[in-house]
Amino acid sequence: MFKADVVIVGSGVSALNCALNLPRDMDILIVTKDTAERNDSFLAQGGICVLKDENDYDSFFEDTMKAGHYKNNPESVDIMITHSRDVINDLIAWGVEFERDENGNLEYTREGAHSTERILFHADITGKAITSTLLDRARELDNVKIIEHFTMIDIIARDNVCLGIIGVDKDGRLEAVKANCTVFATGGIGGLYKDSTNYRHLTGDAQAICIEHGIELLDMDYVQIHPTAFYSKEYGRRFLISESCRGEGALLKNSKMERFVQELLPRDVVANAIFAEMEKEGSEHVWLDLTPIGEEEIKSHFPNIYEKCLKHGYDITREPIPITPAQHYFMGGIKVDMQSKTTMDNLYAVGETACNGVHGANRLASNSLLEAIVFAKRAAKEIADKYGYYANNATKKGAGMDFDKETAKEKYKDLEALKEKYKKLVLDEIEKERRNRE
Ligand SMILES: Cc1cc2nc3c(=O)[nH]c(=O)nc-3n(C[C@H](O)[C@H](O)[C@H](O)COP(=O)(O)OP(=O)(O)OC[C@H]3O[C@@H](n4cnc5c(N)ncnc54)[C@H](O)[C@@H]3O)c2cc1C
Repeated sequence: MFKADVVIVGSGVSALNCALNLPRDMDILIVTKDTAERNDSFLAQGGICVLKDENDYDSFFEDTMKAGHYKNNPESVDIMITHSRDVINDLIAWGVEFERDENGNLEYTREGAHSTERILFHADITGKAITSTLLDRARELDNVKIIEHFTMIDIIARDNVCLGIIGVDKDGRLEAVKANCTVFATGGIGGLYKDSTNYRHLTGDAQAICIEHGIELLDMDYVQIHPTAFYSKEYGRRFLISESCRGEGALLKNSKMERFVQELLPRDVVANAIFAEMEKEGSEHVWLDLTPIGEEEIKSHFPNIYEKCLKHGYDITREPIPITPAQHYFMGGIKVDMQSKTTMDNLYAVGETACNGVHGANRLASNSLLEAIVFAKRAAKEIADKYGYYANNATKKGAGMDFDKETAKEKYKDLEALKEKYKKLVLDEIEKERRNRE
């Protein structure tokens, strides 16, 4: 049995930013299903939005709401935008490097459905630049311990108070973590879909656990399909061709090499236009032509995409590549308030696994790293402020409650069946919500 003041499940950008913003005298345990580096935060390509200056507020707000079909929670959108500069300054102070011009000023790029350039980036590996730096900072802290290959399979809860988690370690052993506060930072649900840009091990485990424990979820049918993933017949994660390629001039074409949609419309609109074109042509993909961007800009701004496509036999400086839409992001999730608190006491949820309504029905490009970072910092602040209350709560509810390994072994003896059950719970919930909305 492990003990911690706070246990954080996940090691992506939201988990790390939460850990880094918690007080240094707290004992923090991060557990993560794979290695610390294998998460979607490391895959983010395009960038992270920021409020460029005060004059951009109305337009940033409107772009976010419009992309989300005005289903967004305006309060969350306001918080995300007004705190964006503050968290970017934190990132820079921790050592994250963004592209700068020759005078050292930050450079901004643009993606679909943004009415201006307001996205900071680091070549086409922005997520890796941010998350690897935060991971380095977290590893330097004496009060933060990271356990890799540890999968949460349940929580320990009594009377709607979370007292910690139950998981399986790398050797298949059941372990409990008792903690006064628990934070879910378990990312998206792409592993539940055949075609997804997400890592396959992101399977919505936290959402399934919430369903089992009566913790509220929100907007579960809001699943984003990204218009441009590299087309492949192979099983596995689909490689994303960042939206900023279209922001910089890449064009979508059908088999006759004719354009059929305005490339910078919101993601869902572009994805639907691609599906319609594929159906019309009876094909499994359409084409993305990056040549209008120019060879020099492709190689300097999109070196990762250039190399990856080259490995698959396509030189994007000279020829179009086959692309298809794929599941990409989950706007819905575990219902949280403006401080990222779930409907269970002593339990928070941050990042893609949580839903505070900021993205509405469709996420605006490059808002997710920002949302994850802003709201993880708010969770950390509230946990620190209310820690005395939570510790007291946990002591009262958890008194005399010991983790009995033998009972647990019996309860969780068939982990494959549990995995299947969780998968079905989440997919059924998505379907139920979709039908309710019709
Ligand atoms: C290819 C790609 C490109 C993207 N590009 C951008 C972009 O340019 N800009 C942008 O803003 N957003 C982008 N996104 C979205 C963004 O990267 C993610 O939404 C964000 O990083 C999610 O961070 P997170 O901390 O919530 O989750 P993640 O970084 O996915 O981390 C989830 C963590 O939870 C762990 N975990 C899951 N289940 C369990 C369990 N049961 N037990 C223990 N641990 C568990 C995982 O191992 C992982 O460490 C992109 C996403 C993808 C896939």
